[in-house]
Amino acid sequence: MKKKKYVYLFSEGNASMRNLLGGKGANLAEMISLGIPVPQGFTVTTEACNKYYEDGQVIAEEIIEEIYERISELEKITGKEFGSLTNPLLVSVRSGARVSMPGMMDTVLNLGLNDESVEAMAKLTNNPRFAYDSYRRFIQMFSDVVMGIEKRLFENILDEIKESRGVKLDSDLTAEDLKEVTIRYKETYKKERGEDFPQDPKHQLIEAITAVFRSWNNPRAIVYRRLNDIPGEWGTAVNVQEMVFGNKGETSGTGVVFSRNPATGENKIYGEYLMNAQGEDVVAGIRTPLPIAKLEEQNPEIYKQFTEIVHKLEQHYKDMQDMEITIEEGKLFFLQTRNGKRTAQAALKIAVDLVEEGMLTKEEAILKVEPNQLDSLLHPTFMTEDLKKAIPIAKGLPASPGAAYGKIAFTAEEAKIRKENGEKVVLVRLETSPEDIEGMIAAEGILTVRGGMTSHAAVVARGMGTCCVAGCGELVINEEAKTLEVAGKVYTADDYISIDGSTGNVYGEKIATVAPEISGHFAKFMGWADEIRKLKVRTNADTPRDTKQAVEFGAEGIGLCRTEHMFFAEDRIMAVREMIVAKNEEDRRKALEKLLPMQREDFIGIYEALEERPATIRFLDPPLHEFLPHTDEEIRELAEELGLTFEELKATVRNLHEFNPMMGHRGCRLAVSYPEIAEMQTRAVIEAAIEVKKNKGYNIVPEIMIPLVGEVKELKYVKDVVVETAKKVMEEKGVELEYHVGTMIEIPRAALTADEIAKEAEFFSFGTNDLTQMTFGFSRDDAAKFLKHYYDRNIYEQDPFAKVDQTGVGQLVKIAVEKGKATRPDIKLGVCGEHGGDPSSVEFFHNVGLNYVSCSPFRVPIARLAAAQAQVKNPRK
Ligand code: PEP
Ligand code: MG
Repeated sequence: MKKKKYVYLFSEGNASMRNLLGGKGANLAEMISLGIPVPQGFTVTTEACNKYYEDGQVIAEEIIEEIYERISELEKITGKEFGSLTNPLLVSVRSGARVSMPGMMDTVLNLGLNDESVEAMAKLTNNPRFAYDSYRRFIQMFSDVVMGIEKRLFENILDEIKESRGVKLDSDLTAEDLKEVTIRYKETYKKERGEDFPQDPKHQLIEAITAVFRSWNNPRAIVYRRLNDIPGEWGTAVNVQEMVFGNKGETSGTGVVFSRNPATGENKIYGEYLMNAQGEDVVAGIRTPLPIAKLEEQNPEIYKQFTEIVHKLEQHYKDMQDMEITIEEGKLFFLQTRNGKRTAQAALKIAVDLVEEGMLTKEEAILKVEPNQLDSLLHPTFMTEDLKKAIPIAKGLPASPGAAYGKIAFTAEEAKIRKENGEKVVLVRLETSPEDIEGMIAAEGILTVRGGMTSHAAVVARGMGTCCVAGCGELVINEEAKTLEVAGKVYTADDYISIDGSTGNVYGEKIATVAPEISGHFAKFMGWADEIRKLKVRTNADTPRDTKQAVEFGAEGIGLCRTEHMFFAEDRIMAVREMIVAKNEEDRRKALEKLLPMQREDFIGIYEALEERPATIRFLDPPLHEFLPHTDEEIRELAEELGLTFEELKATVRNLHEFNPMMGHRGCRLAVSYPEIAEMQTRAVIEAAIEVKKNKGYNIVPEIMIPLVGEVKELKYVKDVVVETAKKVMEEKGVELEYHVGTMIEIPRAALTADEIAKEAEFFSFGTNDLTQMTFGFSRDDAAKFLKHYYDRNIYEQDPFAKVDQTGVGQLVKIAVEKGKATRPDIKLGVCGEHGGDPSSVEFFHNVGLNYVSCSPFRVPIARLAAAQAQVKNPRK
């Protein structure tokens, strides 16, 4: 058998090998084949990462040997040698998963330096300062990233030495100073690790590769994966690449550039660079970089070569590229390229422009926008009136658009906790780092003192669609005292601030926000999505207002109207309660009489808002105790209003108590016990439809949906009530009206007996919230408490209530689709659980052949795009 290959030279790969080599590795290989100047290297594959985990977190001997073989080859290609005393090979070690996970995984630069090769470097470059600067950076990165020693220990040493030399900037330290830094760093390493800093470059390399593999499962990578739908089984590749140096003096430099503007989408090269610096200086935002256009003035020749390559890469990948470059003593290198992260506005503009420039088809362009990103277009801006009165206290970079207000949180941890306690917070940091991810997710907005448009905060916030102002240098943060000082005023964690990620303005007060308006490229792009998709998109809405909003967002009808939501309204809860406490059918009917006109009015409002689009109205579903108070005090108050004694009402509440209410007296079981409820609801639905037809001329075809069915006979029982009542109403009004009766599939037994159920049901709507709850056997209200342990232990990667479990719950959906169609070939199929607005779930529902998904109004555009993408990926008739 041929031995499996785990390590590839860049010259052995190409762009199609992304799954094996990771995005970065595959693109490096592709760039080499395009003749672009790229430092040579090799990629350790994602399969090696998976094997590392399979083998119990060790790198197998055979892989280590292969790595050593590739090092020898790299030495031949570069003419340099690992640990050489004359011409040492130095490498960078970087992670590279199939899709880029910015800042999530760790990088080590200058690997290969030791006490001897640093001297060789000093001689070779005739620049001892540079050699020792590289060495001290390496020791710190290796210690921090690979060995987990606190970075702060090293930063303190550097600060001490700077202070003792009376200098402010790192660049003011001499070679001798930096040599001393390395000595003290190594002492720290020994103290922390109990052993000397490793001198053997091969040993350093294997340790670094191990650290990258290990980082695939660090908590922040797991969080990022969950957020971005990246399966853990993909693993990460590791790229080992010959170092080139942007910090070799004034003819060297480094930059991060985009082929188009990642914030606006403008078709103009955009980026930042710094001369005499290493990549981390740009990304970490420690020094403020220059706009890339300046490079044209500084070095027109290099700039010309650079722009040619940028255009070539964009043409080649047919997408906006995000590239890292280094200039080493006047020679340009590309260290990586990838499809750039961008704001939603930019994503839409770029997708539309690329079609209009003839580079992409509409179908290809549809795949260029991440559906969840549309969220940020639907995000708030400041209320104009309030904004006019507000005066900015500072201005930073407009790093990610949108507007937000909140109280100040000084750490990510604090942001997370305060959000859990229901507070709105803005995360204010010197700069963010990957371990801040959960706090960044929790925050309404992110504000940083340091960093440019390509800093961690900016990149991550844009990806998440969270508004962000970066590099706001006027702020003075005192993390210990938890204060923020700006323009002579001190703000604490109790104070509100507001930030505008589209202008960079910061305000020392709360400014109200308003929902956005969408137009321009959005409409054009979404029009293409609508042309392409086969899956319809409806909305879950219970009020005329939500319905209108959803229709504006492109909803094609209502997939779920939860009638009980109307029962909670202040003007009707009393009637609902009267119905619940009624001692006999007669009293119950009296209470229902009071509810009838209100329900009818609700349905009239909804039908009018829909203007003839279809609506599925679901009958009463929740357990009745939800409508009654629980504390003695509340019961006493209510008893008085209902004309009951405290004891009587207390007894009713006690009677309604259930050990498992979600599996108790709810759904169609209520209508089986009290058919008069279904009668009243049918009457309201039919009368409203007749009335709207009469007044507005709309031809309404109501869809009545019976919830929580598990047995065809219970559906039949309730359906008979509906049919009989509808008939009666139509006779009374002298009008014929078409209507349909269907059911939800949310109990596993219903899915398994769907052929039976379809005899009575004209449509199925998958209630994947309950179906998930019942299939997993854990409560949708309580699971969050323990699911986090499941994520930590890699048992589940995703919340099955957010993203449909295709293996289990999905199988039930497939079975029900098949069986339902066998009985009734034209049965209408939809989904109305929360999964209807989740892109990967939408793709699944498209693939199993549903007619529509239904989701909350703000997720309608997301579902429309996800449905179009599903059609492009897997065309369906
Ligand atoms: C469901 O169970 O998926 C559903 C849509 O119904 P509800 O969430 O109201 O139980
Ligand atoms: Mg349900």
